Amino acid sequence: MLHDDASGPRAAGRFAPSPSGDLHLGNLRTALLAWLFARSTGRRFLIRIEDLDRVRPGAAERQLVDLAALGLDWDGPVVRQSRRQALHHAAIDRLTDAGLTYECYCTRREIQQAVTAPHGPLGAYPGTCRDLTDAERAARRAEGRPAALRLRSQTKEFEIIDELHGRYRGAVDDFVLRRGDGTPAYNLAVVVDDADQGVDQVVRGDDLLPSTPRQAYLAELLELAIPRYAHVPLVLNAEGERLAKRDGAVTLTDRIALGESPHQVVALLANSLGYAADTPAELLDRFRPDALPREPWRIDPADVVQLGVDP
Ligand code: GLU
Repeated sequence: MLHDDASGPRAAGRFAPSPSGDLHLGNLRTALLAWLFARSTGRRFLIRIEDLDRVRPGAAERQLVDLAALGLDWDGPVVRQSRRQALHHAAIDRLTDAGLTYECYCTRREIQQAVTAPHGPLGAYPGTCRDLTDAERAARRAEGRPAALRLRSQTKEFEIIDELHGRYRGAVDDFVLRRGDGTPAYNLAVVVDDADQGVDQVVRGDDLLPSTPRQAYLAELLELAIPRYAHVPLVLNAEGERLAKRDGAVTLTDRIALGESPHQVVALLANSLGYAADTPAELLDRFRPDALPREPWRIDPADVVQLGVDP
């Protein structure tokens, strides 16, 4: 067991894929890492399908088949985020009751134009609708503009601690809590769901590190425990860009079509983490988070990798 032992009977890690398509090698590697972090610290491991947007029919089911084929297991039923919206809306209402939200009528384009201003954190909402008068709000509503609901943030920055990145300070802007179509926004839903499900360990791709101070700050406002974080490196193609479908054989189905077995794919993922193993269980005993590579994994999916593992 590591120093970071699970802190209670409900303590859990999780993998939370968006069902927008098949998982690629980078997603599979992140799933493997999330499983290893959870299991090596005595935590439960949960799967939550984040289906509030970008849903491709059948993708969630295929993702689960792939995770199981690699030898990953999970506890309890798979949860679908879209079925938990009552909880999300209750949290939004609590923030609204505390005076911590406001309606925003800006279009995406208006925000993009405003944020190209030279100052302020990249992509931060400039606060256009924060201090509208009641009359101005009424006028915008009358124009029929769908309103998103934003957080009235009381801070500009928040610091989190990450297992791999150490102390990380990042911007907190007035981010969206509820989209114009009434759907809870990712940053809100992820915080509410993790806390409600007892998730106290969040392992995910480091593309989400910049959003994490917003989420941790939101957890604090909602008086929810801030989880431990580990943001793991992404996978890059031969050109150093984020791995994508166009790079070739990037999904488990693609790899199998090339003649690799699921064991060989696990061996490929394990190799990228510095281990020789062809099942998650075999990796578990040896897993050391502090020895993980901190650099992105570069792979040319055109190569069928021969790691000396029997198919
Ligand atoms: N659903 C997000 C994604 O697939 C991950 C969210 C998270 O792990 O917090 O990119």
